[in-house]
Amino acid sequence: MPHIKRIDHIAIVVEDIDQALRFWRDALGLELHHVEDVPDQMSVVAFLPTGESEVELVKPATEDSGVARYLKKHGPGVHHICFEVDDIEDCLQQLMDRGINLINEQPIIGTGGKKIAFIHPESTHGVLIEMYQLTEEEPLIRLERASSLAERVVAGGMIMSAAALAFLRALRNDGGRKKLENGGFLPDEARN
Ligand code: ZN
Repeated sequence: MPHIKRIDHIAIVVEDIDQALRFWRDALGLELHHVEDVPDQMSVVAFLPTGESEVELVKPATEDSGVARYLKKHGPGVHHICFEVDDIEDCLQQLMDRGINLINEQPIIGTGGKKIAFIHPESTHGVLIEMYQLTEEEPLIRLERASSLAERVVAGGMIMSAAALAFLRALRNDGGRKKLENGGFLPDEARN
């Protein structure tokens, strides 16, 4: 059977990020890590880490994306659940062997270099399921994005700790890539 490591994220489609944050952040008390444009998903996503997993509030950025169509048809709500696996190709093969209907029979490269594939809701009792495997490239892509994100955050006059910024800069300026490859260490700011 596929080896599921953990839930990576639960994606929730919303009409308005700020409105949704009134519940998820202000009432429920989850920490808002950051809000980011995700152009290849034609969405704006708010990331709220919860231990080893994340809640992602997804707002369509265009009228014609899959997420936009979902919102129009079903209204706001849970869009998909994402599981992290060790070996996504093996996992997909095992699911196909059991006759599970996959949207992606081969993994696709998602945002930030993730290897992902979706399972059709008709095989899962109504829930869109995303499978995800960390790739070797992903931490580096994350670091790049986090670094430019950090600069955007500062440019926008928002709060980010000086220590976190200094750390990101140091990683970029003095062999941060090597450090990453060797130690596999990632700053919190690089997660998304
Ligand atoms: Zn997802």
